Amino acid sequence: MKGKSCSYDYSFKILLIGDSGVGKSTILLSFISNSAHGLSPTIGVDFKVKTLNVGGKRLKLTIWDTAGQERFGILTSSYYRGAHGIILVYDVTQRESFLNLTDIWAKEVELYSTNPECIKFLVGNKVDRDTERAVSREEGMALAWERKCSFFECSAKTRHNVQQCFIELARKILEAPALLEK
Ligand code: GDP
Ligand code: MG
Repeated sequence: MKGKSCSYDYSFKILLIGDSGVGKSTILLSFISNSAHGLSPTIGVDFKVKTLNVGGKRLKLTIWDTAGQERFGILTSSYYRGAHGIILVYDVTQRESFLNLTDIWAKEVELYSTNPECIKFLVGNKVDRDTERAVSREEGMALAWERKCSFFECSAKTRHNVQQCFIELARKILEAPALLEK
């Protein structure tokens, strides 16, 4: 992909998946805007693009948000098509959002994400509300271990671990030769 007309080495499609209200849009804005203040997630935004350097490579990340469609049931196969990475998000203060991921995994991710090399991350958001916790860190880790994916806890509000999560995901994609060929 290197060339005069191309300002990046690789382009990755990354998806944010999870129940409505877990903080997907806020995570995306927190990552894109470099600011924790004045974030106002807008329903209807489809994706955002950010370029960053990881492992000496210039990467273009196109991060897809569900644009509120998760409210109407499962997402379509076109959303998943060509994805290099999938971030499955739950809210650590909403147990339901954690349990629902099992359903989403079976009814959507395994059905539509046909590339077995696609990197999945499990992310528990809103750790700033620690006193209201309904899902322990250990439970999150256990599910991630069971699904063979990486695990992060973050706060889109304080921006704790948000950058790290995307950078680590990009690094994992870079390490998967089958994904880079696409
Ligand atoms: P989405 O439906 O998954 O896109 O969720 P949103 O990004 O719209 O967030 C839902 C609500 O949770 C909003 O009121 C956000 O301000 C709030 N929120 C998102 N992330 C965090 C977080 O890390 N901590 C706290 N305390 N609130 C958050
Ligand atoms: Mg949203």
